[in-house]
Amino acid sequence: MKHRINSKVLEVINDFYCKCLGCNQCTDECVFLKKHIVDAKSFLFNLLNSEEINNKIPYYCFGCNACQKVCPAGINFGELFLILKKDISNYKRSPHIKHFVIHNHQKFGNSNIFSLVKGNSNVAFMPGCSLSSYSPELVEKIYMFLRSKLNEISIILKCCGNPSLSLGEEEKFKSMYNELINSIEQSKIDHIITACQSCYKTLKNNSPNLKVTSLWELLSGIDMPKLNINETFFIWDSCSAEDSIMRSIRNLAGKLGIKIENDEISYHPKCCGLGGCVHTINRELFAENVNINSSKIKTSNVLTYCAGCRDALSNTKNAFHILDLIFYKDLIFKKPNGTIKAWSNRYRLKRFMEDIHEES
Ligand code: SF4
Ligand code: SF4
Repeated sequence: MKHRINSKVLEVINDFYCKCLGCNQCTDECVFLKKHIVDAKSFLFNLLNSEEINNKIPYYCFGCNACQKVCPAGINFGELFLILKKDISNYKRSPHIKHFVIHNHQKFGNSNIFSLVKGNSNVAFMPGCSLSSYSPELVEKIYMFLRSKLNEISIILKCCGNPSLSLGEEEKFKSMYNELINSIEQSKIDHIITACQSCYKTLKNNSPNLKVTSLWELLSGIDMPKLNINETFFIWDSCSAEDSIMRSIRNLAGKLGIKIENDEISYHPKCCGLGGCVHTINRELFAENVNINSSKIKTSNVLTYCAGCRDALSNTKNAFHILDLIFYKDLIFKKPNGTIKAWSNRYRLKRFMEDIHEES
């Protein structure tokens, strides 16, 4: 279905069009642009002329911003497609039925069944939805580890609302984020340690007065035991990670004695395919992206620090989360969890956290 583009968005498109040099370095970088946009300057020209767009196209963008990093004019198609998604959804709800998966994720993730903010410390650990769905055991282990180092630490099992934001559903995002911040304030938490790069970014961007620390920065700054692993890994950087987080992961891997193939940080990490929730609306593009990403990785073992990236890459590689290596040591490769398992994991984690806070 065609969407009539708002005049304010047309102004942004016009600005991009005037700046664009037509070099197509962006389309060479991005599977989505290459397949659906083909030629950047003509695409922008056609939008300006027709003042309309197929209302599915903006939802095929992973929001990784890799296009901006290669563009000599600094154009960010991720920014344009996000504005278009807001325009299409009218800041409320995506019109695409396939996004029900995300709507449910947002609805249930912050319900009383799965969410929790507990503890007496002003410092809290926030694992993020994907790590909690992937492995409650790992969250439990890292939480107890942090507790042993800090004496006390609170826990936040809530979503920051980033999936809603990535669909342009700004109203939903704001209500989820406000709910999160209210719970944090009520619990007198002013410092959050998070294992999720999206939570990190969302909290930093929206709550400048809150102290936010990446778990990877924290772990790279303390003594960690050497692991006895002989395999070599390719580090898959999360596209939402800041440079400082990418450096911390490499420091941490060095401390743990993990052999890595790519010591240099990636200046424009690609999306694993889950960004922008593209996997829900265009499974084919998601799979193509995973295959392209995997074809560029020489090692069969991949080391990630995002449970979402781990799941996406485990379709083609032996992908491990760095916490798998720290706590399990032996390399037991796991396929991605199905939906029921993921939700039951989150429920189990909530029960565990409730129980240990009742005991203490
Ligand atoms: S890389 Fe930048 S300048 Fe080159 S075509 Fe893409 S948007 Fe235009
Ligand atoms: S933000 Fe990422 S997925 Fe979107 S157009 Fe840019 S490079 Fe492609």
